[in-house]
Amino acid sequence: MRVIAIDGPAGSGKSTIGRALADRLGLTYLDTGAMYRAVAFAVLRDGVALDDDIAVGTIARGIDLKIGDGFVSVDGVDVTDEVRGPEVSAAVSAVAALPSVREVLRDRQRTWAAEMGGGVIEGRDIGSVVFPDAILKVYLTASAEVRAARRALQLGETDTESIAKAMAARDIADSTRADSPLVEPDGSVTVDSTGLGIDEVVDVLVELMESRS
Ligand code: C5P
Repeated sequence: MRVIAIDGPAGSGKSTIGRALADRLGLTYLDTGAMYRAVAFAVLRDGVALDDDIAVGTIARGIDLKIGDGFVSVDGVDVTDEVRGPEVSAAVSAVAALPSVREVLRDRQRTWAAEMGGGVIEGRDIGSVVFPDAILKVYLTASAEVRAARRALQLGETDTESIAKAMAARDIADSTRADSPLVEPDGSVTVDSTGLGIDEVVDVLVELMESRS
């Protein structure tokens, strides 16, 4: 099984780079952030407290979750747009900190990879916890200003300052939680995409893959 793990903070370009890299290498692509967002969506939908480990874990186990490339559905309802909205973005890190949720989603991610024979998988704990034996582990980052500007562009927002604040809060929560926090995984290659375009980053990663094959 060939897994390429891409981790990094919010707005570092993981999804864009991950998709482009998967295309170039003919591999499938999995956005694990969308899985955590889907659980957060269901928790808000059901009005359950974000820190209720048992109730939220029950939701994570029980929902019918489908993730395609750029598509998310929960219990048969297309929630692709909702999971990117401000409510889910504000709630997702609290839900993702719960061990019950992480256990369920880790299992789903490993099952997905086994069924697909590997792929490009991006998130926060992919190279450190979910696939520590990945053939290539990338820690993708960029300056806080560039990350906020990219996210604002993606969302069609002009208030970059409040996006930067929300992203910083999420990064702190994700890096300081007890269960599988965001770290630079052992054996990972750190790529700072601040001054680089998509193709340039993908070129670097393809070269790294070729040097390992
Ligand atoms: O990648 P994205 O920004 O969509 O991820 C949303 C949130 O999901 C992150 O801020 C983090 O709280 C959580 N997440 C995680 N572990 C992953 C992927 C995402 O905790 N592997």
